[in-house]
Amino acid sequence: MIKAKKQHALTWYDTRENEIYLNKIPLSRLAARVGQTPFYAYDRSLLSRRVQELRDTLPSSIKLHYAVKANPMPALVCHMAGLVDGLDVASVKEMHTALNTGTAPEHISFAGPGKSYHEITAAVAAGIVLNVESLEQLKQAAKAGQALNLKPRIAVRINPEFELKSSGMKMTGGAKPFGIDTEQFPLLMEEARKLNIEPEGLHLFTGSQNLNPEALREAQSGVISLAKQLIEEHGLKLRFINIGGGLGIPYFPGEEPLDLQAVANNLEIEASAFSSQHPDIELVIELGRYLVGEAGVYVCSILERKISRGTTYLITDGGLHHHLSNSGNFGQVIRKNYPVLIGNRMDSDDMETVTIVGPLCTPLDIVANQVDLPHTEVGDLVVVKQSGAYGLSASPTAFLSHPDALEALV
Ligand SMILES: *Cc1c(COP(=O)(O)O)cnc(C)c1O
Repeated sequence: MIKAKKQHALTWYDTRENEIYLNKIPLSRLAARVGQTPFYAYDRSLLSRRVQELRDTLPSSIKLHYAVKANPMPALVCHMAGLVDGLDVASVKEMHTALNTGTAPEHISFAGPGKSYHEITAAVAAGIVLNVESLEQLKQAAKAGQALNLKPRIAVRINPEFELKSSGMKMTGGAKPFGIDTEQFPLLMEEARKLNIEPEGLHLFTGSQNLNPEALREAQSGVISLAKQLIEEHGLKLRFINIGGGLGIPYFPGEEPLDLQAVANNLEIEASAFSSQHPDIELVIELGRYLVGEAGVYVCSILERKISRGTTYLITDGGLHHHLSNSGNFGQVIRKNYPVLIGNRMDSDDMETVTIVGPLCTPLDIVANQVDLPHTEVGDLVVVKQSGAYGLSASPTAFLSHPDALEALV
């Protein structure tokens, strides 16, 4: 057992009397209220605070959308809908969740490289904006419009030649299944006009999880200048340009929060230059994890302490079946630990080095590897931070048939 400093100060959760608080509720009381571990908890006040920070920092003309796939819990989407200007969905089920919030259909857009005729019909019937990603999707939208006697609302998703550098996930540049290559845009426009469909937007989503303001600035500038070029070359009459998002959050040791001000400064210059030429076209950014990731935690209980050849294992009731991304098996190349805490021992300075694992019969089920945490007992609550995005909905919940996790918006 080693003596080290206490668990490090939390950036935004309150702690009092040894416990972490989620929106003024002590963790143990919240666990009792939920009635079980494991569970996810999302803090409304942190969700609202994050949106406010963005509103205060980004140019006021920029419209803010929430990308529902980051966390599709209906109550959370409803809370977000009251704060942002629109919702971006990636399936018909997400579309229903978005429509159920009361968001106006013209502020909901539907992206995705594969959409069936049935899904396209549902989107056209709902009156949401269909992000057309191929000639085929355009034709099917026209067909659905004819069948329903409605004019489909479409935006065209473009795959530009450039990419979002130093990004966790790149969605443009080179060959991609997302959107249509810039070179194919003229052909798509020709077809759209034959079908008497005029796009009301362009969609350019360059990538995800980026903490480098320089890379984000470069991509945003590239997107806006390409959009300008397409507007001029094709005489487009657009209502909006969705310039993507990609703002990241720090997950791992050594990562610093994004310098939002630096991103905002560039956007201010770009947005004012753009709106002086095109005052009627709105610029939209779409964010998922940046809005919700830091407002959520995953909580599980210690079932057992076990020592094996010098390693202290804490075995919990939660793991990769509820939180695949924390286990390191959702797009990570080298596994790193998410920030974890013992939520009911916040004042303890009796530290030890432990490896926390889940209950699944697989070596992949790691909650945290070799971390310094307070000495624990069975029943203590392990809290995984940065868990508000790509948590439960991105996890293989049926794997090994353990009980489900619950979700609470507090
Ligand atoms: C996934 C996705 C997002 C959200 O990405 P985050 O990294 O969560 O911000 C936004 N737009 C599109 C088109 C996406 O596919």
